[in-house]
Amino acid sequence: MNEFYKKIQTIEKVTLFQDIDLAPYTTFKLGSRGDLVEVHSILALQEILPLLLANQKPYLVVGWGANQILPTQCEELILHLDFSFNSTYLETQKNEYELPASLGLNYLTAHAVKFGLKGWEVFTGIPASLGGAIYMNAGTNLGEIGKLIKKVQLVTPQGELREEMITDKSFSYRKNHFVRPGEVIVGATMIHQGVDATISQKIKDYLDYRKTTQPLATKNCGCVFKNPMKELPAGKLIDLLQLKGVGIGDLRVSPKHGNFMENKGKANWDQFKALVDLINFEMDHFYGIEFELEVKIPYH
Ligand SMILES: Cc1cc2nc3c(=O)[nH]c(=O)nc-3n(C[C@H](O)[C@H](O)[C@H](O)COP(=O)(O)OP(=O)(O)OC[C@H]3O[C@@H](n4cnc5c(N)ncnc54)[C@H](O)[C@@H]3O)c2cc1C
Repeated sequence: MNEFYKKIQTIEKVTLFQDIDLAPYTTFKLGSRGDLVEVHSILALQEILPLLLANQKPYLVVGWGANQILPTQCEELILHLDFSFNSTYLETQKNEYELPASLGLNYLTAHAVKFGLKGWEVFTGIPASLGGAIYMNAGTNLGEIGKLIKKVQLVTPQGELREEMITDKSFSYRKNHFVRPGEVIVGATMIHQGVDATISQKIKDYLDYRKTTQPLATKNCGCVFKNPMKELPAGKLIDLLQLKGVGIGDLRVSPKHGNFMENKGKANWDQFKALVDLINFEMDHFYGIEFELEVKIPYH
């Protein structure tokens, strides 16, 4: 083990794994190997990031990995936050919530169902950590999570804790505009728009709708491409070109939803790139459009 990794191992509340199978850390589960650090406290992160900076070691934060593709051999060190959270905090309704970035949105949806929190229906069924959802400004056609965030705590590459007050310029479609290169979101203050007894049913209905329209039981990474325009969803265009079900190796365009790709078993990075190129070739040929990736891949 090199000196740098030895130093990381001395930090409290950190677990280092070298040359492991990274597939379990993403929902797509493409074949990938690399090194990963599980970080269990903000203080630990404040120690690790300056070490990475000093050693010029590239890194990548993976939350639930629901919107990430990792290459076959991952050169970046993967940082995976796993902060402790006392779930009794969500037993009572509050006006504002101080939440760790590693918390799953599913906990928040369950809380919203219980108390009928208005606004929280916008992230119904999105598989994500809170940090990943904020980074991506995750949302559905009911709205975006950015509207519910008041304040975000981040750790800078120098190891400092920074607070960002959210304004109406902080987010746009599937994007944040405040996380600077190398910064990691560690927590956020969330608000809601009051209580509404109809919200619980709205969330349940939306979950049912997702089940019928998306291949939720498969290994996938959600929507692969950004919609070129609101009224022109990428999935619809892929469907029009009859590309649903088209595959390369163990990877195929979902027969259920054109903007999803399904890993049937041992799909890999090369197959993903080849299928993206094929779809973009067809799009360009027939519509003169090239899709932009929504899913995050390293080096882009
Ligand atoms: C079945 C399925 C359905 C989906 N449906 C939707 C949907 O309806 N709407 C939608 O918006 N998305 C959807 N997605 C995509 C995905 O759930 C969202 O993009 C989500 O926000 C990703 O969260 P994550 O924790 O998995 O982040 P990851 O995929 O792990 O990371 C996404 C990006 O955020 C960065 N990041 C993650 N955590 C942090 C952090 N703490 N600090 C700094 N950067 C961080 C990563 O480096 C990466 O660039 C779906 C995905 C799947 C698999």
